Amino acid sequence: MEYHSPHKIPITVSDISSFIFSAGSPAFRKSPLYFDAESPTKCYSLEQAEVMVKRVAKGLQDLGMKPGERVLLVSGNQLHFPVLLWGVIAAGCIFTGCTPAASVQELEYQLKDSGATLILSGPEAVHKAIEVASRVNLPFSRIYSFCSVDSDPEPQPCNLKPWTAFWAPPAEVKGWNWKRITSKKEAQATTAIINYSSGTTGFPKGVEITHYNLIANAEQGHHKRSLVADTERGKARKERLERSGERWLAGIPMYHAYGQTYFCMNAILSGAKVFIMREFSLEKYMHFLDIYRITNMNAVPTIMVMLSKDPSATNYNFSSIEQAVCGSAPLGKDIGRAVAERLLRPGVGVKQGWGMTECTCTGTAFAPDDEDDGGSVGWLMANLSAKIVSLDSKDFGNQKEASNGRKIGEIWLSGPNVMKGYFSKPKETAETLIYDERTGKRWLRTGDIGYFDARGCLFIVDRLKELIKVKGLQVAPAEIEAVLLLHPGVQDAAVAAVKKGEFEYPRGYVVRRTKELSTKELQEWVQERLSRHKWLVGGISFIELVPRTASGKVKRRELLNAKLASRESK
Ligand code: AMP
Repeated sequence: MEYHSPHKIPITVSDISSFIFSAGSPAFRKSPLYFDAESPTKCYSLEQAEVMVKRVAKGLQDLGMKPGERVLLVSGNQLHFPVLLWGVIAAGCIFTGCTPAASVQELEYQLKDSGATLILSGPEAVHKAIEVASRVNLPFSRIYSFCSVDSDPEPQPCNLKPWTAFWAPPAEVKGWNWKRITSKKEAQATTAIINYSSGTTGFPKGVEITHYNLIANAEQGHHKRSLVADTERGKARKERLERSGERWLAGIPMYHAYGQTYFCMNAILSGAKVFIMREFSLEKYMHFLDIYRITNMNAVPTIMVMLSKDPSATNYNFSSIEQAVCGSAPLGKDIGRAVAERLLRPGVGVKQGWGMTECTCTGTAFAPDDEDDGGSVGWLMANLSAKIVSLDSKDFGNQKEASNGRKIGEIWLSGPNVMKGYFSKPKETAETLIYDERTGKRWLRTGDIGYFDARGCLFIVDRLKELIKVKGLQVAPAEIEAVLLLHPGVQDAAVAAVKKGEFEYPRGYVVRRTKELSTKELQEWVQERLSRHKWLVGGISFIELVPRTASGKVKRRELLNAKLASRESK
């Protein structure tokens, strides 16, 4: 059985640059749009952004960057992140973003896998960028480091050039424009962004997101947020927002699909002002929500858990928040409820959304006035279809029905926001995107397990795929396993999620060659090579044998019961 969104909306056929820079009224385009939350006099409007984007784009073309070439940006959030993202795309190149917390090994992997030929680096990552460039023989002249746009750049290590060094002068971009896309076929074929996700199995892969995907998911999101219930509460909410205007707080990273889509695409369609946090701290997050009178809060479960418990949270005033959305990983019902009861105005609940990098960002969400009992992730976005596919894997157990009799299975999605495929990985693409010749639909196997209730609301109950989510960030077990296997004292290794309190963390299951190998040594081995969210916070068990299928795949659900080789496990 297929489920369909009750809403069908027209999707604009265009390129993302024309789409962004023609959004909103002339007054909106002239007024400040992006603010540095730390220092809000630093800000720029969409009109100013357009000039900067053209300078970046023409500058990249003048450097010789060709259409389809990849540019890697390794940076946390900063005021000009959207300009760089749009600039790369306006040049006809493909943007790929990486966390500055990545280890040298992880950065090298993404640089090689994406084949990026130019690195833009935030100050926190320049040393890693330099090391990676020397490992892959990329000349240092292909690395540009961030600096303030307004002041003279600080001297950079290895004499790296500041990123404004390649921007074309303002006078030169007066007559310049990006290449327009006018056909749906071209919009669907042209990749704008490659975000990284491990999908259902294996190592992180480059998810090709096209111009059409970006525009579709932005329009689907805008459509959902614009729905107003025909109730007193709905009308009052709309009036308040019209009076105050929307203000969003960018506290989650924009190198990930969630922050990227919300703060670089969706906010523009909503005519929102965006306050960009350079670094996350709960205290600052709460302070900014309060002083900037934020209307839309987009968070991940870790933030919600902190807000539900932090004693100082009640000292802040969150009454401006009209919509609080949580996504990226499961959120306990009680947590959302606690945040709403403790901190939000009556009638504003914390609502979950669900999606994944492979569907650009969002697959399901609630409209602002929708009733939500706290367990669901909402309705399908406009133009999306889904089906629940039977689980025939013995690994998964026998759960076939929810307590209300609804069929449980793997969620498959089809619609305009489903990725083009995995970059340079036809086999993995064919395993994940299933083409139905009869209907002509392309189905994305999400690797998530769930069911739709009688209203058409989706519930996520488990995960079929290996992926572990730590603080909303992806952790691919295969990546940690590869690092463990590099250790000379490790004979075999597997990694699976374990729950600790509200969250899940990776745990290692290791068959060791010698009894001398300790968990401490292995923990340090992983910590030296992988970024913090991939550390084995769930502990390490020494086991006798990694349970595998006949074809050698790890049976992750059996790891918990694997026979321990010794008591020395943590
Ligand atoms: P990413 O591609 O990093 O956005 O990760 C996508 C995955 O995160 C999904 O396939 C789910 O496994 C998980 N996820 C995202 N949102 C939710 C949610 N609201 N509830 C449960 N899992 C979620």
